[in-house]
Amino acid sequence: MSRFLSGLFRKLPPYTPVLYQGRVITRIPSASRRLYLTFDDGPHPDITLQVLECLEKYGAKATFFLLGKNVEKHPQIVQRIKTEGHSIGNHTYSHLNGWKTPSNMYYSDIKRCRQLVPSTLFRPPYGRIWPYQAHQLSSVFQIFLWTVLTQDFIIDFEPEYILRRLMKEKFSGGEIIVFHDSEKAASRMLYALPRFVEAMLEKGFTFEPIDWER
Ligand SMILES: [Zn+2]
Repeated sequence: MSRFLSGLFRKLPPYTPVLYQGRVITRIPSASRRLYLTFDDGPHPDITLQVLECLEKYGAKATFFLLGKNVEKHPQIVQRIKTEGHSIGNHTYSHLNGWKTPSNMYYSDIKRCRQLVPSTLFRPPYGRIWPYQAHQLSSVFQIFLWTVLTQDFIIDFEPEYILRRLMKEKFSGGEIIVFHDSEKAASRMLYALPRFVEAMLEKGFTFEPIDWER
């Protein structure tokens, strides 16, 4: 993929706050220099543990948007995520795209995940959710998209490119950053994560879990 195209893909999916009536959060208002790391698509028996070790090393907290099907396979990792002070959120049971899935099927997949992931945080896979789906889900969940998408899942990109691009973003506090603890993203994510965290800590930022009561 060309860098020009990647520039387009960095943006959020077609999404207007007006249409979604504020039901979807892309940034957490923050007076202080707090950043919110998020990891989608886990838990993974090896990669998630490497993420946890990295976060612990730097005293950073994060939020993991979990897939129900992976939680079923690795429940002990979810326990560890929680014990270590991170937040968890729902990312559907089987990674469904809201735009392409009949809503009833979409909601029941999310419900199936909820039985495994006791959380009112939700992130739609691919960031794709129709306004009426967001409206329906907002009675139970707070929906989170992101401020910065790292694109760690794009296999054509070098790890160094992912890091460099991330470092070019302007952070002031409250930004939500997306990584993936998945096999596809691991080489880029595990390269960029410690370097990014270390650089931002030096600049006086802290990394906090999303802690959102509904
Ligand atoms: Zn995902």
